[in-house]
Amino acid sequence: MEENKMSDKKSKDLITTGPPSGGLFSPQQENLIKPLTTEDMTQDYLRCIQCGYCRDVCRVFNVTFRETDYAGGRNRILKSLNKKEIPFDPETIQDVVYRCMLCGNCAEVCPVGIDTVHVFRNFRVRAVNGGAMPEKLKKVRDSVVEFANPFMEEGTKRHDWCKGNACDEGYVAWERGVGLYRKIKSGELKPDEVSPNLVAYFIGCTSAFRNNELSSATCRVLDAMGADFIVIPEEKCCGSVLFRTGVDDVATELMKYNIDLIRKAGIKEVIFSCAGCFSTFSNEYQEYTHHNLGFKLSHVTQFIPRFAKEHGLYFKYKLRSKEDPLKITYHDPCHLARYCDVYEEPRDLISMIEGISLSEMQYNKKMSHCCGAGGGVRALYGDEATSIADSRLDETVECWDEINEDRLLEAVETKAESLVSACVFCKNNLSNAASQFKPDLPVQDILQILENCDVKRKDEK
Ligand code: SF4
Ligand code: SF4
Repeated sequence: MEENKMSDKKSKDLITTGPPSGGLFSPQQENLIKPLTTEDMTQDYLRCIQCGYCRDVCRVFNVTFRETDYAGGRNRILKSLNKKEIPFDPETIQDVVYRCMLCGNCAEVCPVGIDTVHVFRNFRVRAVNGGAMPEKLKKVRDSVVEFANPFMEEGTKRHDWCKGNACDEGYVAWERGVGLYRKIKSGELKPDEVSPNLVAYFIGCTSAFRNNELSSATCRVLDAMGADFIVIPEEKCCGSVLFRTGVDDVATELMKYNIDLIRKAGIKEVIFSCAGCFSTFSNEYQEYTHHNLGFKLSHVTQFIPRFAKEHGLYFKYKLRSKEDPLKITYHDPCHLARYCDVYEEPRDLISMIEGISLSEMQYNKKMSHCCGAGGGVRALYGDEATSIADSRLDETVECWDEINEDRLLEAVETKAESLVSACVFCKNNLSNAASQFKPDLPVQDILQILENCDVKRKDEK
């Protein structure tokens, strides 16, 4: 490859600290004056003025102190690759590419408004196409290709989470879904005859195969509220982990399949308990269809408070009282918050629960810190850490653990009795850290709180 002949410098050898200067890393004047167009967004890094504002907010940099781990440093590498000052070396580039949670904290503080998440996601596509795909990611990709989920689980077992009395409410909703598709296929029902009040619950791979407590809780809560809902019987992986890690070709095929599956059943609204699936539909799927998906998207933290308001409902937490509420703090998942601008609805929902009170962490909403699982990083490096011989990967895993712990300490500072989120990955990652560092701090999903509530009518008060 011509790039590799240009220099024997490696990305890790570049010193990226220091004020903006002329020469190799200086910003390009025309880009400072005029932001790039949408087509050019993959090269938005050219506008980086190396101011370093993004360094302090980057949780990865604050643990590793590696110059290539924060946005400005990574942008310098990209500029240098662009000018062929360093070779594109598939081995050394992997750390630069993947030691980032794609959390978007840096984009919030960038004075020139660089869309860092967009830039770094495209860096991953380039890395994958250039042969820099980590081994574990190859396994994830192969699993999704063969089984339509990243866990190497048989696709036919996707809805086992609700079968055999595991979750009656989920099983009934799954049966309703099977019935709807049968009627559509036979012509007994036309797509435009499907009730506009019917919502379809997209479970997602993680809640289907690993965290069925969340799919079950969602169905129980929807059922208790009296919502008209189905489980989509033949859903496949939404492609989130592949879009996040740069394997766009496989993810795009899954996206087309899921869109067609939902459209052909005349479904008007799809709801999600998984923030990752919701974000993927709200961003990649919407972009692909030019914001013309043909059905509405709602996370459960949006749907439930809306439905409750429309039907005059509220929730009463059974384990505590109005006088002695459970004090919780809410962790904004990156995929729900910065990726989809869902900040207020989860707080609205919490305010509807009698017996729960909310205290905010120091870093919340737009400036909330990532739990450490973002960007597919945990999927790549996390649970097999101890068996990974490569010391750089071990170092990465230690880094994520420290990030989890930092977020827990923030939660402890609020004196909350429980840390609550609305994302299966945040719950898993923070629970994992809590079991090691803060065993007295339960980590829950908001649905697990709701599952322990009585649904009341306001006129019953
Ligand atoms: S997206 Fe998050 S982890 Fe990645 S460079 Fe920006 S702040 Fe750091
Ligand atoms: S804040 Fe923006 S301009 Fe400044 S170093 Fe970071 S990415 Fe570059």
